[in-house]
Amino acid sequence: MKIITSIKDQADYCNSLVKKGESISLIPTMGNLHKGHESLLFNPSYMKNKKIVSLFVNPLQFNSSDDYKSYPKSINSDIKILERNNVDCLFMPSEDEILRSISESESFALPGYMNILCGKYREGHFLGVFKIVKKLFEIIRPSVAYFGKKDYQQLIMINHIVKEYFKNKIKIVACDTIREDNGLAMSSRNNRIVKSKRNIASLVYKELVTLKEIIKTNKDYNFKELQQSFIKTLSIEGIKIEYLELLSSNDFSVIQKNDTDNLMLFVAFYISGVRLIDNIEV
Ligand code: AMP
Repeated sequence: MKIITSIKDQADYCNSLVKKGESISLIPTMGNLHKGHESLLFNPSYMKNKKIVSLFVNPLQFNSSDDYKSYPKSINSDIKILERNNVDCLFMPSEDEILRSISESESFALPGYMNILCGKYREGHFLGVFKIVKKLFEIIRPSVAYFGKKDYQQLIMINHIVKEYFKNKIKIVACDTIREDNGLAMSSRNNRIVKSKRNIASLVYKELVTLKEIIKTNKDYNFKELQQSFIKTLSIEGIKIEYLELLSSNDFSVIQKNDTDNLMLFVAFYISGVRLIDNIEV
């Protein structure tokens, strides 16, 4: 596997691939790879493409410097995972070079629906993701890019970037959320939670599944009441719910009574001081 650390070398490598008639698949990550990331790497679509993984812990998307500094890193095991999955190239740019390459004069407009859910509670987070993903697309010019549905709001924003800035020329493949056996969505942040607490964290997913069943089977559900009971049940377990919302998975609009299509439950919560997110289609 080729490991590239400079923007110019990466752009040159990608140009040479395109000249040879190759197509590129990009899988952007912040490293500390787990089975969720691996599912993006061995996704069966576009197998013939050259696979490029980027590893960049994006300082622009963190709200607190402590959170950024404590983000888990495991480069040696990451490289082993990438090699095992036949990745052709790892792009690991320096923070300094990437940040310098983003023009201060360029204005970035986020769609209004990026101000809700995580956008409401993590000021500047999505703008940070937006800047870096757009830059990665400009350097690598992939024809396909893989993103996880776990970060659903991010996924919808990426579709927006591709439409507005890349004329829909990059195909975005949305990959299902991979979970631990207990149901907890895999996340690099899970490493910061002791095992017993991870089992408790999995109750959030179990409660989401219960909520989904109630919403699907009971036309007269009262979401405000369901929300309150969800928050109460989990707070007894030491879990602090930041938000729980039932919204349209197309554009995050509020669900009207009797809407049954494209509903999604979104949750963000804290356990042992670690913030996690999850979602489930209803
Ligand atoms: P990250 O390294 O957390 O920035 O994630 C890189 C990519 O992996 C993003 O597209 C995430 O949505 C995706 N991802 C993270 N966790 C999971 C998971 N448990 N299942 C599927 N995809 C995931």
